[in-house]
Amino acid sequence: MHLAAADLAALIALCRAEIDRHGEHLSALDSAIGDGDHGANMRRGLEAVFAERDAIAALPLPAALERIGLVLVMNIGGAAGPLYGTLLMELGRALPGDAGAGDLAAPDDLAAPLERAIAAVARRGRSGPGDKTLLDVLYPVQAELVRRSPPGDIAACARSAAHSTGPMQARRGRASFLGARSIGHEDPGASSCALLTAAICGYFEEHRPS
Ligand code: ADP
Ligand code: MG
Repeated sequence: MHLAAADLAALIALCRAEIDRHGEHLSALDSAIGDGDHGANMRRGLEAVFAERDAIAALPLPAALERIGLVLVMNIGGAAGPLYGTLLMELGRALPGDAGAGDLAAPDDLAAPLERAIAAVARRGRSGPGDKTLLDVLYPVQAELVRRSPPGDIAACARSAAHSTGPMQARRGRASFLGARSIGHEDPGASSCALLTAAICGYFEEHRPS
């Protein structure tokens, strides 16, 4: 898998379009177990990244990811902002410093940096598996990378992991205030995470090196 600057700009555009398309759905999920702003929060974050996409894509990949993380923290707000921000900033920091925009490592080379980034998110949120958060998508996606699964399988795994948060009882964030009443609703953060994962995987499926 190779990631040129043009790919990064295209991926940013794709993620922004995906969040824009599903913003109402994300907010509806958040209305059921939170305060109904997750779609608006994510849209704000992705719009801000999109506005900077050319400058971001011109950076070496680690710096680009760190910058995306910072822009997300500054613009998503809420609980999700610092968590998505931490994920991207730590992923950037965990990549080899010489990872240029033109030579992203193979997907399995992403597994270890992503593991580190996910651990930072878990520390930041004081959360772990089964808490009904975006981590319930991130852990299985990372495991698929370790297995070197093809992008289509990773996307399917992300969707099914988000779906699996439905029967969970929330133990972190606003939804945890509902106790058992949080059961039966998909977690909005898990849902946005699956949408973004699937969009990114779709891109790599289409642009697979021959
Ligand atoms: P807020 O809850 O401040 O309104 P959002 O609605 O944008 O923020 O994001 C809510 C999502 O953030 C949840 O669906 C969940 O996935 C994630 N989240 C909230 N708190 C935590 C936490 N402590 N650890 C991990 N994820 C969390
Ligand atoms: Mg909310």
